[in-house]
Amino acid sequence: MKKYTSKINKIRTFALSLIFIGFVIMYGAIFFRENQALVIIFMVLGLICIIGSTAVYAWIGLLSTRAVQVVCPNCGKHTKVLGRVDMCMYCNEPLTLDPTLIGKEFDQRYNTKKNR
Ligand SMILES: [Zn+2]
Repeated sequence: MKKYTSKINKIRTFALSLIFIGFVIMYGAIFFRENQALVIIFMVLGLICIIGSTAVYAWIGLLSTRAVQVVCPNCGKHTKVLGRVDMCMYCNEPLTLDPTLIGKEFDQRYNTKKNR
């Protein structure tokens, strides 16, 4: 079976890696000290990554307000469900908001509009 993680966690990991990529690109500018144009390009690229990550973080905040908060039946913690099916943020227990999907095997595809 494929491994799924909570959507919010996935986006959060993406935003975090974007920050690191931004810093690595900016750090890369040091190697092109002689070429001022390249330094500027690297700095701008790094800055774009960091700004992008900030935007993604803002997007997570927006998504979180739309997500439904539920108590995970497996670990008892409060977690957020995004879409029809999602995973618990703490123990990766599959959760659904749709009663017709209870007992069915977890499938990320239930979130696409085609299956509605
Ligand atoms: Zn859980």
